[in-house]
Amino acid sequence: MLIFKTKEKLINHLTLLKVENLSVGFVPTMGALHLGHLSLVKTSKENNDVTVASIFVNPTQFDNKKDLINYPLTIDEDIRLLQSEHCDILFLPPVSEMYDQKVSAQKFDFDGLEFEMEGKHRDGHFDGVGTIVKSFFDIIKPDNSYFGEKDFQQLQIVKKMVEKHDLPLEVHGCPIYREQDGLAMSSRNARLTAKQRKEASFIYATLKKAAALLKKDTIENVVTWVENEFQENPILALEYFTIADVVTLQTASKKEIGKTYRGFIAAFAGEIRLIDNIELSV
Ligand code: AMP
Repeated sequence: MLIFKTKEKLINHLTLLKVENLSVGFVPTMGALHLGHLSLVKTSKENNDVTVASIFVNPTQFDNKKDLINYPLTIDEDIRLLQSEHCDILFLPPVSEMYDQKVSAQKFDFDGLEFEMEGKHRDGHFDGVGTIVKSFFDIIKPDNSYFGEKDFQQLQIVKKMVEKHDLPLEVHGCPIYREQDGLAMSSRNARLTAKQRKEASFIYATLKKAAALLKKDTIENVVTWVENEFQENPILALEYFTIADVVTLQTASKKEIGKTYRGFIAAFAGEIRLIDNIELSV
């Protein structure tokens, strides 16, 4: 695996590959890699001649500075894991390579997707995501890019950005990779205490029960049921549970024929914020 730390060296190398007409798949990450990240690399490998992964903890997408400072860094292990997946290229830039002296985000208009769910709770988060993902796309010029459904709102926002800016690539969503007990894999899981980690499987268990309940009950009743379940949980604090339209991401209050919904959760285990979501059929 080739490792590049500067844009210039990466661009020079990719230019040579493009001359040979090789297709490029791109997987952006913030490191502390797990099997969820590696599943994206695998999908990219299967569908492209060359796979580029990036590891960059993007400061402008953290509204919570403590979360940024405590974000896990496991670079040697990450390199080992990417090598074991035969990833072709790792882009590992320092902050100074991706931002000028002023580390700030551009403002984006994602047609309102940015104001729902995570957008309500993480100020400026999606401007930070848009800024860094657009920079990566401009540098790497991938044919395909892979994002996890774990961050479903982010996936829809990146698709919207590509559409609105007419960028010449396809964005692909990949299924959520889970631990054996159902907890969605996340770099932040490493920061959970043993007790919190054990209890965290409650999030997906509750989502699954909510999905089953929704088949025979109203959205309002299912939302109330989930909120009550969390109220009785001494370890996990619910930030939000929303049933939303998959296209607009707007909260749904009534089931409508022909629409597709997803259930979205954000919950805290102590200071650690966990998110998950599930496809719903009504
Ligand atoms: P992150 O390093 O958290 O920024 O994630 C990098 C990419 O991996 C994003 O597209 C995430 O949605 C995706 N990802 C993170 N966790 C998972 C998971 N458990 N399953 C599938 N994809 C994931």
